[in-house]
Amino acid sequence: MEEKAKINSFINFLKEKGFIYSGSEIYGGLSNTWDYGPLGSLLKKNLKDLWINSFIFQQKNNFLLDSSIMLNNKVWEASGHVEKFNDPLIDCKKCKSRFRADHLVEENTQIKTGNLSIKEMETIIKDKISCPKCQSNNWTDVREFKLMFETSNSKTKSDLIYLRPETAQGVFINFNNYKNGKFGKLPFGIGQIGKAFRNEITPGNFIFRTKEFEQMELEYYFHDLGNGNDYFEEYVSVVEKFLKKVGIADKNFRLFEVPKDELAHYSKRTIDFEYNFPFGWGELLGIANRGNFDLTNHSQHSQEKLNYRLEDGEVIIPSVIETSIGVERLLFSILWEAWTNKTENYFPIPQEIVPYKMVFLPLTKNEIELTNKIIEEIITPSKVFSNILVFEKGNIGKRYKHADEFGIPFSITIDQETKSLDGEVTIRFAKTKEQIKIKIKELEDFFFKN
Ligand code: ATP
Repeated sequence: MEEKAKINSFINFLKEKGFIYSGSEIYGGLSNTWDYGPLGSLLKKNLKDLWINSFIFQQKNNFLLDSSIMLNNKVWEASGHVEKFNDPLIDCKKCKSRFRADHLVEENTQIKTGNLSIKEMETIIKDKISCPKCQSNNWTDVREFKLMFETSNSKTKSDLIYLRPETAQGVFINFNNYKNGKFGKLPFGIGQIGKAFRNEITPGNFIFRTKEFEQMELEYYFHDLGNGNDYFEEYVSVVEKFLKKVGIADKNFRLFEVPKDELAHYSKRTIDFEYNFPFGWGELLGIANRGNFDLTNHSQHSQEKLNYRLEDGEVIIPSVIETSIGVERLLFSILWEAWTNKTENYFPIPQEIVPYKMVFLPLTKNEIELTNKIIEEIITPSKVFSNILVFEKGNIGKRYKHADEFGIPFSITIDQETKSLDGEVTIRFAKTKEQIKIKIKELEDFFFKN
């Protein structure tokens, strides 16, 4: 199948099964917005829970934060976002298409744009590149486009406020709260999951680049005794383990060490993890050694000392290793892996994050009552902390097919031989199609063991 058709059938499948819908559809849509349906929203939730488990619970001394989306404007002045968080924009005067100048240069020449000025990019485009849409060479100048979304705190525009473009700054400004509240003995980490907003020039590629998205970020603070790379490598391996758990094949991701002269203004070292998306390799997540850039700048701008007293009395400003993962980009790669590994009807979402682990299938109407009894008494939603699915109708083959397409690993059939709560049910494994019989009383145990 041609690549574009393949992506479209993937997106249609996700819509049809209840994973992801396009946004505001009944009003004609709103481009590049997406809504997560019964399966997609649960998958997203499970993914975020797994991140909390892997990056907070399983790491020594890491804690969670839930900070505001709207922060004092001075935060964004201190972080450099007000001045520097721009993308270079260029328009084709003929067809009015809009492009990111750095993307245009990198996609059409061998030139890296990391340390090019706006003027240098403009010269290259005007000299060498025609509009990919209409082939003309009639460009506007390149100008800086502000990526932060602006809104106002009151009815007048004078009270300008930004929607956060990343969750990390909320973490930095809370440093002293953690330290003073006994949650901050070095080395320690603060992680947060939440929405971020960027007024992207070229949103698109399904859920890869949107203006509203979620991030899972961890800031790991340490005293830099020249050991920054050790912590850096530690988190590279935490990330690699996490990617394995969510089913990303080794061959489908690669690490890109950002060259020194292309590093962002705050970074001492950055590695981007790239994924082999259906449209090509693209950034999935990043790990950066931000040094003490953030705490230093917030200390200067806020007059509040964001520092740390060592046991020998010396006062230091800790350094930080950041891991920053986009929820939707990771979700895209997880769904794409499952899609490309689909066998027959089974959509193999890794069991740890699958939206539904099991579905009950009463074979005929006669077994519906017993099925409800099992759900009320044996495997209740409150016990397993999960919604429970029942497919009551249709021939059993069709019901298996639906279960397989939803990625449900176990289908549980209740038939006329089951009879009572002391009876047995049949479990069918979606992956192998193998079937086994087990006692209803053992179902709860089975649920927790698998
Ligand atoms: P890109 O170069 O693709 O614009 P970035 O380098 O600006 O990404 P970061 O600022 O490092 O991205 O953000 C950290 C992570 O947040 C990214 O690796 C990605 O997973 C996610 N992310 C960033 N921008 C978006 C977006 N517009 N839509 C969805 N996810 C995003």
